Amino acid sequence: MKKRSVTAILVTGLIMVSTILTGCTGNKTTANQQPPASTQNQVVNVFTERHYETDKQLFEVFTKETGIKVNVIEGKADELIERMATEGIDSQADLFITADVGRLHRAKEKGLLQSTSSDIIVKNVPENLRDKDNQWYGLTVRARVLVYDKNKVTPAQFSTYEDLVQPKWKGKIVVRSSSNIYNQSLLASFIAINGEEQAKAWAQGIVDNMARAPKGNDRDQAKAVVAGEGEVAIMNTYYLGQMASSADPEEVKVAEKLGVFFPNQDTTGTHINVSGAGVTKASKNKENAIKLVEFLTSVKAQKEYASANYEYPVNEAVEASDLIKSWGEFKPQNINLTLLGENNKKAVEIFDQVGWK
Ligand code: FE
Repeated sequence: MKKRSVTAILVTGLIMVSTILTGCTGNKTTANQQPPASTQNQVVNVFTERHYETDKQLFEVFTKETGIKVNVIEGKADELIERMATEGIDSQADLFITADVGRLHRAKEKGLLQSTSSDIIVKNVPENLRDKDNQWYGLTVRARVLVYDKNKVTPAQFSTYEDLVQPKWKGKIVVRSSSNIYNQSLLASFIAINGEEQAKAWAQGIVDNMARAPKGNDRDQAKAVVAGEGEVAIMNTYYLGQMASSADPEEVKVAEKLGVFFPNQDTTGTHINVSGAGVTKASKNKENAIKLVEFLTSVKAQKEYASANYEYPVNEAVEASDLIKSWGEFKPQNINLTLLGENNKKAVEIFDQVGWK
């Protein structure tokens, strides 16, 4: 990132913080609607990369139940990390939330997070979906799958991620750019499972079979498949759910045409990732931050993530939504998600070497 943009971000950020901390954009408490005395003026400042409506609604419910005001600052994960690193112990951030484990790991490596101990969180989040030092916890699971147009392709044509490098898929694969962390974590998982050489050969094979140079986000890949620009998209499941329930009728139409295939069911499993949260080292409201994570991993909040945002719950007491269930059960990759963070740098290097834009 260029220096100039970092400064610009910091200035914008400072304005946002002062706006939020003066209460202009936070949750308001009216005179006749006082929170419990013990929680008056209690806040938790959340730096989040997650950009979904569900999160805002969940924060509101949390405030209603606890009286703790949630101040939200949204931004790109790397920019938020940069900012927390620059601000150091003076940072206002209490809780850092990202849409990918790679960035949680980056924050941990930079010493921006702290270990916490909460029996409730540990009970809510299975061991493989949280940091081994309890510096971050998964909030939702997402699977990166193969998506196809049901009128043009049959699921029998698919088997594994590795199969996509075969000549039969030449000019047929659409996928977003390698600067995207979801792709970086996908490749990081292959480095963990198959080793660096094979991971590199896979990335090269995908580049060779791309229908077009990578562009757009995951939804754009789905649209490209329906438009006939490619036959298979590599993308995260929940975007299909979001499109199926979209206010935009065009997105609904696209979603109706698409099928989901979970690759590697007979081998190493489908790639999963988590969005997650970690309490910051600089936190001035640590107890409130822990309370928020306890709430977000609770049955109540997990049901919201599952039904409104079509993500897989981390809490095993909660079932996936009907739409998600209609795609069928699947076997996920069996690796500790910490490896996605540890292999991130290597993945980025490989993408550069093979020319995955
Ligand atoms: Fe996303």
